Amino acid sequence: MCSGRVDLSFVLRAFSNGMDGVFIGGCRLKECNYVTHGNYHALNMVLLCRKIMERIGLNPERLKIEFMSGGEGILFADVINDFCKKVEGLGPLGTGEGIDENELKFKMQEVTKLTPYIKIVKREKLESRLENEEEYDGLFTRDEVDRLFREVISYHIDPDKCQACMICLKKCPAEAIGGGKNRIHVIDQEKCIKCGTCFDACPPRFGAVKTISGEPVPPPIPEEERMIVRKNKEKGAS
Ligand code: SF4
Ligand code: SF4
Repeated sequence: MCSGRVDLSFVLRAFSNGMDGVFIGGCRLKECNYVTHGNYHALNMVLLCRKIMERIGLNPERLKIEFMSGGEGILFADVINDFCKKVEGLGPLGTGEGIDENELKFKMQEVTKLTPYIKIVKREKLESRLENEEEYDGLFTRDEVDRLFREVISYHIDPDKCQACMICLKKCPAEAIGGGKNRIHVIDQEKCIKCGTCFDACPPRFGAVKTISGEPVPPPIPEEERMIVRKNKEKGAS
């Protein structure tokens, strides 16, 4: 119902499914009946997504947001007709930009995977309420988005510090952490959505979850080396 419900991941999914253009219609800014003013969220999401599209070589004109009231049928029809003409002129997604189909698929997968991370890192700006159209282009800059992808944070569990308390494993929303009782926990980087929950959840006295940026994540510790042998148990056994 509310344009604020249109998540960045919905837009990326539409493009990943081969849509040549995405149009979002929202209520006029400042006319929202709710304190949430979701249409500002939708606007900010579109401004960010357009910069992401530029980064991966897609024409940002393929994504449009327009604000109007439910009674403005003629305006709606005009806007949609213009947008359809524009998208037709751009040609099929990817082909119109000269991007190979497989390359586009790969890029879309990479960006989609980072969506939760992007939303967390840019949360403050995504909650802005821009008053003037002149501010739109400057909310997210191309440099900023490039940096966002370049300096993406990964999470890694230090095998020397993990105490196998299982807190992170239970809290991970992506089931990306492998472990068990008395077993050093390991993050599956393919499944990890970089939400940072494990970093916050790991008790400070253990401090086993590390953030890594700008360098490769160490490979996971081999399965056969993951068992933690507690010192008191060692004593008891001898
Ligand atoms: S950052 Fe941690 S909690 Fe979040 S998905 Fe990755 S492993 Fe799971
Ligand atoms: S919360 Fe920390 S100590 Fe506990 S299992 Fe996870 S990484 Fe290991």
